[in-house]
Amino acid sequence: MKTLVVGTGAREHAIVRGLAADPQVEAVLAAPGNPGIAQIADCRPVDANDGDAVAALAQEAGADLVVIGPEAPLVAGVADAVRAAGIDTFGPSAEAARLEGSKSFAKDVMNAANVPTAGAHTCTDLDAVAAALDAFGAPHVVKDDGLAAGKGVVVTDERDEALAHAKACLDAGSTVVIEEYLDGPEVSLFCITDGTSVVPLQPAQDFKRVGDDDAGPNTGGMGAYSPLEWAPHDLVDEIVRSVAQPTIDEMAQRGIPFAGVLYVGLALTSKGPKVVEFNARFGDPETQVVLARLVTPLGQLLRAAARGELADFPALEWRDESAVTVVVASDGYPAQPKTGDPISGLEDVDGDGSRAGGGAYVLHAGTKAGDDGTLVSSGGRVLSVVALGADLGEAREVAYAGVEKIDLPGSHHRSDIALKALRGEITV
Ligand code: AMP
Repeated sequence: MKTLVVGTGAREHAIVRGLAADPQVEAVLAAPGNPGIAQIADCRPVDANDGDAVAALAQEAGADLVVIGPEAPLVAGVADAVRAAGIDTFGPSAEAARLEGSKSFAKDVMNAANVPTAGAHTCTDLDAVAAALDAFGAPHVVKDDGLAAGKGVVVTDERDEALAHAKACLDAGSTVVIEEYLDGPEVSLFCITDGTSVVPLQPAQDFKRVGDDDAGPNTGGMGAYSPLEWAPHDLVDEIVRSVAQPTIDEMAQRGIPFAGVLYVGLALTSKGPKVVEFNARFGDPETQVVLARLVTPLGQLLRAAARGELADFPALEWRDESAVTVVVASDGYPAQPKTGDPISGLEDVDGDGSRAGGGAYVLHAGTKAGDDGTLVSSGGRVLSVVALGADLGEAREVAYAGVEKIDLPGSHHRSDIALKALRGEITV
């Protein structure tokens, strides 16, 4: 099978790695990819958000399967364009991707399907915002209704800060969703679906805040680990039963089948798991650790989903090892990321990533080739260091040893990825 991966981040780098390791995959192309992806795939300078251009590339390259990584191309209808060209496509239609693209649409589907989630009010003016904030009380949760790359959410005890964020969203023309605050550890579960059947991957936990101990603002994600040894043993079955399957059934019933990956972000509250958010694609950085542990060939799994053949797909196989990823972010991220700085030391992080003891490896996100051919930063989250270990402690050690070898002026990373889990400090 020839595959084409659309996107440019560390998530796409992880997907490309997974596809390249599938014995049935003979070629991997990426559009547009990044310098890390270019080491293992054929990168083509095609705009990820241009459906016609992606479909034309897929046809010209003879791709049998196109995998769409980020949310923006999905919402822009790139999956629809590639499907219309008769090519198997992993990723939902633009209409189905509204489960991520509109928080109010997602709430409507969840309510119709009886999926447990935070209470919410959709507001179009500041008076309604103030009333909703007071109805729920602190901590306040204020969300931009549209796509904001994980940065449109403010969670704060300060009413003024909540109002200010809501005002900024309203002034920019967005609707605002005010939510009940959900307490409890967060879990991300990716559910692969063909629109009917649901095949869950293993859960992971990510770290949204920029600083150690969850200090500072939300980011796109600063690290992740899997498995979650502290989670209830029936958690995955419970999430499929109470969240993923009812959501997929509700979408099918509405005539908007959702095929691709339904990313379920949950809080494990004292009243059971409740949905914090849906995404319509693999989440970054959790994908990095989940795919590091998946033994089942990725291309075959994603093709079965694209073709509506998941019901007959064999049970997934997983490595027993633990995986940890640590994101290295540029100076000023997330407020004002500085770009164009030289990155060095990557060649010293050259593990093969296929097993514990095999060393750490780097996934590229915001990197590009500088004028003189050296690597420079080009975004907020610049790269990730991923490691497998016999247990979480070893995976952490190997990943952080890799981070120490990388030099990027002014860069920062969290030093506590997977630390509470390792110390047994997470309770449900
Ligand atoms: P979202 O973009 O909806 O995923 O929100 C980003 C992050 O904000 C989540 O991962 C949570 O850490 C936090 N968050 C969102 N909604 C809530 C909520 N209702 N209660 C508590 N925290 C939340």
